Amino acid sequence: MKVMKFGGTSVGKPERMHQVSQLITRGEESKIVVLSALSGTTNSLVEISHALAQGDRTAAKQKIDKLEAHYQGFVLDLLKNDNTRSKGNAVVAEHFEFLNIILRISFSEALNKDILAQGELLSTKLFSAYLEEQGIDHMFLPALEFMSIDTNEEPQLGSIRIKLSQLLQQHTDKKLFITQGYICRNARGEVDNLKRGGSDYTASLVAAAIHATVCEIWTDIDGMHNNDPRIVDKTNAIEQLSFDEAAELAYFGAKILHPTCIWPAQQENVPVKLLNTMQPDAAGTVISKEAGSTGVKAVAAKDGIIAIKIKSSRMLLAYGFLRKVFEVFEKYKTSIDMITTSEVAVSVTIDSDLSLKEIVKELEPFGTVDVDRDQTIVSIVGNEIAQTDDVLQKLFTAVKEIPVTMVSYGGSPHNISLLVPSVSKTKTLQLLNKGLFGL
Ligand code: ADP
Ligand code: ASP
Ligand code: MG
Repeated sequence: MKVMKFGGTSVGKPERMHQVSQLITRGEESKIVVLSALSGTTNSLVEISHALAQGDRTAAKQKIDKLEAHYQGFVLDLLKNDNTRSKGNAVVAEHFEFLNIILRISFSEALNKDILAQGELLSTKLFSAYLEEQGIDHMFLPALEFMSIDTNEEPQLGSIRIKLSQLLQQHTDKKLFITQGYICRNARGEVDNLKRGGSDYTASLVAAAIHATVCEIWTDIDGMHNNDPRIVDKTNAIEQLSFDEAAELAYFGAKILHPTCIWPAQQENVPVKLLNTMQPDAAGTVISKEAGSTGVKAVAAKDGIIAIKIKSSRMLLAYGFLRKVFEVFEKYKTSIDMITTSEVAVSVTIDSDLSLKEIVKELEPFGTVDVDRDQTIVSIVGNEIAQTDDVLQKLFTAVKEIPVTMVSYGGSPHNISLLVPSVSKTKTLQLLNKGLFGL
């Protein structure tokens, strides 16, 4: 059995849904198909939720009506036969009735998650109606019945596996299953999600849970590129990546993959393929145990980074100092991305300012604390790059005009990271494209 995940642009237009229906009916193997919301929908739902959180019901209502009109038009284009079209219309009516009801309820975090879930619920139900119209036999697997996160918001592969296999065992006669990406239930049983871009994570978790032969991530580009194609003009698709390389790229900002979606597939050794819905026969990128080659493969950038420097001539040499510093971050459930130390200072980076005030307050007794916002981590990723000749020389020659504020080297054999002010990100990525890849 294999898993095929289609992202927002792959299902964002009726003709794309048609393409997807062709791709999922190729070959004999059974499939679980994971769908995202139509492109733009989750952003609209975030805006609706935001308006409600601000108490602006008029703005929320306008946005709901606009989105509903979009879906009504979508159904009209997608579904041609009376029976399935009225099913499609009923799906749209049901979900927009829900959104209109929540206009009258007081806003809460749980309600926010319910709002955000509407996109994947809509896309999968409409796609299912389309498959029915095309006479394609399939079964619906509601993600809310098997996908769950624990109190730390971590998916639990063990329980996902048990619930999913129970569901699959009820339908051994079926070969095609459709489910929602992104959405799940939390430890309180409420509707929740796997964070933005989370459908990739769903796909990898499902693939790991069922020991799939492959986890295919179908998107709007022909694989993982060597640099961010939204920022740099000349980029190329990479043929092969190891799980470790792909995990580093995803975590350090390559938007094509959700930041933590690699570990489930890696844990169960399920290869992941990145493929292009618009060019289905392009080779794409294969992610597996094998790295294929050594040396630099790609560069990625992660924005919204905050650097915190703690200077303390007295305490740094004392053993136990770093532990006390880390305990502060642990207490506020804030993970550290980069870290550098010297005799008198330790600098760390974090990617969330949720508890920044409290963290700084608790660090102040240790020494002088400086905070730099608007930083970007630029990561250079590749198999054994630290041991590859000339990488450091090429790297630092390329970025000699950039005011690099931190460097992390040697922590992983696959990654060298630089911290740069976010205003220098575009320039840094362009210079590295030339200096490291000659592009
Ligand atoms: P989907 O909706 O299918 O999940 P995403 O928008 O999340 O698609 O991811 C695909 C996009 O990721 C591409 O269109 C591309 O602009 C962007 N992207 C950023 N960095 C990279 C990279 N290194 N390689 C490929 N795509 C990248
Ligand atoms: N629809 C969700 C989002 O836009 C999940 C996804 O597309 O992967 O973030
Ligand atoms: Mg995505």
